[in-house]
Amino acid sequence: MPKKLVDEILEKAERILETYPLCDHCLGRIYARLGMGLGNDERGRAIKTLLAMTNHFHAKENPEEARYRLRKLAENAGGPLAALYEKLYGEDISTKQCYVCGGKLSRRYFEELAKKAAEIIKTYNPSNFLIGVSITPAVRARETQVLALAGIEYSESIKNEVKREVGKLVSALTGLPPGFEKPDITIIIDLETGLMTPIVAPVLLKGVYWKKARNISHTIWATRDGRRYPYSLEEFFTEKLVPIFEAERIVLHAAGREDVDARMLGTGRPVVVEVKVPKKRHIDREALNKALASDVVEAVITGEASRNTIRLYKTGATGKSKIYKALVYVDRELSKQDLLRLEEEMHERVIRQLTPKRILGRKKETLRIRRVYSVKTRMIGKKVFEALIHSSGGLYIKELINSDEGRTEPSFSSILGAKAECIELDVVYVEPYTEDAAGNNI
Ligand SMILES: [Zn+2]
Repeated sequence: MPKKLVDEILEKAERILETYPLCDHCLGRIYARLGMGLGNDERGRAIKTLLAMTNHFHAKENPEEARYRLRKLAENAGGPLAALYEKLYGEDISTKQCYVCGGKLSRRYFEELAKKAAEIIKTYNPSNFLIGVSITPAVRARETQVLALAGIEYSESIKNEVKREVGKLVSALTGLPPGFEKPDITIIIDLETGLMTPIVAPVLLKGVYWKKARNISHTIWATRDGRRYPYSLEEFFTEKLVPIFEAERIVLHAAGREDVDARMLGTGRPVVVEVKVPKKRHIDREALNKALASDVVEAVITGEASRNTIRLYKTGATGKSKIYKALVYVDRELSKQDLLRLEEEMHERVIRQLTPKRILGRKKETLRIRRVYSVKTRMIGKKVFEALIHSSGGLYIKELINSDEGRTEPSFSSILGAKAECIELDVVYVEPYTEDAAGNNI
């Protein structure tokens, strides 16, 4: 170390300590980036020790002249400077509280915080953790004041010191590594009160669901008179998965959704299951799928998902083609020719669709341009047929059939020249989503 730097550190430290009382931690933190494998308290203590030595040297020459300044330093620094003053002048000194931390920071305090944090962390069974610290604006302001005098060249923040020191201790207590990128759990320590708030990362699972009955909503659909539908997908996943993960709740992010009265069969529909605040994180996939095998609603978990998967499902739904099976009633008798003509007219057909009247209250009116790729029909009765409709995502199928009073054009009704109505609707195919390693939709 060049001689100049030592002088600079000591001169500056003396100037700071003449103005602000600082504990070993808060003084040492100003030089946190010098020296490695040291605690800031060791840095602070070393500087105070050197100051006691140099001041002792000067006081020897002229004790009375040095007394006033040394007294001030002793009050603000305590430790070796207070001891020196007391020995030299035979007067007891009461050390002032640290200006920045109020005397809170100490190894013992870090140990207390770490013990408490480790207890909380253990209850959530994470694979890694992170410590966060919140300080009051007053502490921040005092820290800034001291740094304005001391300079920030080698310093770190009080938050950083607490995070690092407590983090090291928690790691030792729990055997867990820190998770800087994607922590399973973050403990926010309020430095003022010592209160700790855990933020638990959700478990995100990629899967597919089937709805084998009608009138099952996505979420609980409540009205003023109670609930509108007897069961929901959300309840299904909640019943099955909340106990297994010991979680708070489940949130579903499906790639589009079918009407409440439509079944979801065939390929099933992709969904991301978000398990909120789980106490168990690593559940065997086989066990999950055993729990999710059921009669009315069924699901399979295929792997882990990310936030990106959710984004993909939310924004990519219209880009994915779907196949629907519709049971159609027409108010006149049909011939084979009618159905052949319908198939021909609907082959690779562009459909213009104004927002259906049944959802106008919830959505504002827009014009959608979608495409029917093909329609295959099968006569069931004189006025009833079944249609397999392959189309782009986001096409309203009931309106494609009944024309919604001309708001969907063309429609089964317009082509057949008769009133056609969708009696039953099933989704039988949803084009799968695939992500590459970077999480892009491919
Ligand atoms: Zn302090």
